Amino acid sequence: MSEMTATAPIPTPKVGFVSLGCPKALTDSELILTQLSAEGYQTSKTFEGADLVIVNTCGFIDEAIQESLDTIAEALNENGKVIVTGCLGAKTGEGGGNMVLEMHPSVLAVTGPHATQEVMDAVHTHLPKPHDPFLDLVPGGFGEAGLKLTPRHYAYLKISEGCNHRCTFCIIPSMRGDLVSRPIGDVLKEAQALFEGGVKELLVISQDTSAYGVDVKYRTGFWDGKPVKTRMLELVQTLGEMARAHGAWVRLHYVYPYPSVDDIIPLMAQGLVLPYLDVPFQHSHPDVLKRMKRPASGERNLERIQRWREMCPELVIRSTFIAGFPGETEEEFAHLLDFLREAQIDRAGCFAYSPVKGATANDLPGMLPEALREERRARFMAVAEEVSIARLHQRVGSSMQVLVDSAPAMGRRGGVGRSYGDAPEIDGVVRLLPPEKISKTLKVGEFTRARIVGVEGHDLVGMPV
Ligand code: SF4
Repeated sequence: MSEMTATAPIPTPKVGFVSLGCPKALTDSELILTQLSAEGYQTSKTFEGADLVIVNTCGFIDEAIQESLDTIAEALNENGKVIVTGCLGAKTGEGGGNMVLEMHPSVLAVTGPHATQEVMDAVHTHLPKPHDPFLDLVPGGFGEAGLKLTPRHYAYLKISEGCNHRCTFCIIPSMRGDLVSRPIGDVLKEAQALFEGGVKELLVISQDTSAYGVDVKYRTGFWDGKPVKTRMLELVQTLGEMARAHGAWVRLHYVYPYPSVDDIIPLMAQGLVLPYLDVPFQHSHPDVLKRMKRPASGERNLERIQRWREMCPELVIRSTFIAGFPGETEEEFAHLLDFLREAQIDRAGCFAYSPVKGATANDLPGMLPEALREERRARFMAVAEEVSIARLHQRVGSSMQVLVDSAPAMGRRGGVGRSYGDAPEIDGVVRLLPPEKISKTLKVGEFTRARIVGVEGHDLVGMPV
């Protein structure tokens, strides 16, 4: 009999983890959770029973900052031992010091975004690593497929950090620095592991997906023993082939309308990647785009979209916009509404301009009153909805592939899924009716075909077939 049976069991240290913010922050959370679990810590999404709490924060807009600060306060109240990471951790407070520490001096440690190692160091200091003889046998590690916070059948793949642009309304580059592309071999290895782990939809994210590899001059890396360039086209092509072999989807986010994107559209037409593009246009009027210092602002976006649609008529375009940017005239705003109609943007989100602290746009002349910014946002959304719903109605009568996200009772009472036109969490869904055929079942993470029979708000209604 081994000695181990005589020793009292060592309690497993437990780390509570709260993840706020955007999909990019979620990827950071996944890396930290993967590492915690690899080292033998138990993790949970609540504070209850936790020995220590990590809060991954967001610092992008004022509401997000407030939400993050409130969560930290709550964690301190309920648990007392708190480590803060993420965008808010990189922000300066009123007193010139670290904002989080100024507001909550009892926080144990603060790091900025993508600081897995620093977070782990802080955890080790305040909650020692459990002794685990199997430590090195636990799979998962930095940058490889590990614990996913998202449902197992879809996952985010972060291909780079930071951004080389300096849009005047954005403080991300000052928090995250310039573009750093991950080596293509690492990215593809992670994608492969995710597909092998059962992921059916891979969402490619970064601040500027079209700029992938610019920082390393499109260096040639290696994958599967073959040379492959660190560049969007090669990345998308290889991911598409990998996804096809696993019967999975690849969806592209944060792509700018550069001429090079034209080469991606044929891959969509061939069905290698989803004919879906998330292009954050922010505005249409050339003068506003110039004041915003937007990437690709000199491009003729309307013509580009029309060309994309000729190459791939199925293409669904999602975008975000800002209404009431400093100095925006009624004429410039009207240009934006016309663009929305002409470009037939399938899914559009809109923020009323919000003067984020530290953004250079705040110094531009012609700041509009808040009521006017909000009014323009509402007018924008009314047009966006009209366009979006008309486009959804064109789907009625067609048959679509749907990835099932929820299916109680094996789908006998119906379920919820998404078509290629719906990214998780930001777009609509396909509401699945109970199948007519008694033998037909639905399973989460599997595909079903559905006949589209109606539109409900921003969602489609489908009959599984
Ligand atoms: S492209 Fe512009 S908005 Fe996007 S992260 Fe870079 S600076 Fe910010």
